[in-house]
Amino acid sequence: MKEEPTEFKSGFVNIIGRPNVGKSTLMNALVGERMSIISHKPQTTRHRILGILSGENHQIVFSDTPGYVRDPAYKMHQAMNRYVEGTLEDADLMLAVVDLTDSLEEDHPLIEVMQANRAPVILIFNKKDKVEPDAIPAIADWWKARIQHTEVCIISALKEPEESKALLELILKYLPVGPAYFPPDQLTDRPERFFVSEIIREKLFHQYSDEIPYSCEVGIESYKETTTKTGEPLARIYAVIFVLRETQKGIILGKKGMAIKKMATAARKEIEEFIQMKVFLEVTVKVRGNWRDNDAMLQRFGYGN
Ligand code: GDP
Repeated sequence: MKEEPTEFKSGFVNIIGRPNVGKSTLMNALVGERMSIISHKPQTTRHRILGILSGENHQIVFSDTPGYVRDPAYKMHQAMNRYVEGTLEDADLMLAVVDLTDSLEEDHPLIEVMQANRAPVILIFNKKDKVEPDAIPAIADWWKARIQHTEVCIISALKEPEESKALLELILKYLPVGPAYFPPDQLTDRPERFFVSEIIREKLFHQYSDEIPYSCEVGIESYKETTTKTGEPLARIYAVIFVLRETQKGIILGKKGMAIKKMATAARKEIEEFIQMKVFLEVTVKVRGNWRDNDAMLQRFGYGN
């Protein structure tokens, strides 16, 4: 006998939490595809990234929220804050992620931001592998008293991604019944070139230190899929790294261009893996003193609405 089909559920799930708590790691564990930049440096997830998980009876649209910036000094920061506010408006469910190793501060930005939230909340405690099991209940209680929530989940997104998948069942409980928003084979609503720029940005974070990566923005000037002479698929990608000062350009290029070459090779390999075809990648560096405060540039980098 055939079982009655369950009703199709779909909805928007927004992941929120301070930079570095493991939001991207969690989303990757949930969606199973590498989709957003992961780095140990804070504020690397500047964009609002959607990952879409389609199953037989559900479609979950995830967004990964950038960290909320207090006293925004740049237009970029203001744009980031608008994204966070946007996530509070359109969520069917919030995943509020806390790092169990974080200090317990009464004025923690997550506590403040979550006060404006109206959607149900799964309060997620991440990095349980980094704290003594005995210490977890007291930390969890502290947060539970300060953030309104409907469920609690204690995980290690990095060490136990399979366990994070159990979280999916819990998420589905909260999704409304409704049709899919996107075609089922679509993993994200962002074009591939967006991921290409994220991969390059990630390489910048890995290779250069201090303020350099924060002073950079990556633009994809052109992205074309063609074929090689032998008929193999090939993506030709021209990327530009915009920096604030001439000295930064020198650092990025390195002696005889060796540093940028190393970075571009690492990026190319990863892009090839991501888009599953051969890649020709050319990366140049340009100085644009005021990109952080320039509306046109911010639009181009996707910070606009
Ligand atoms: P995001 O800024 O909130 O998106 O944080 P990321 O996902 O980029 O993670 C920040 C850092 O924490 C990375 O180095 C991750 O590998 C690490 N991380 C994430 N989850 C865990 C975890 O469960 N355990 C441990 N030990 N590290 C984690």
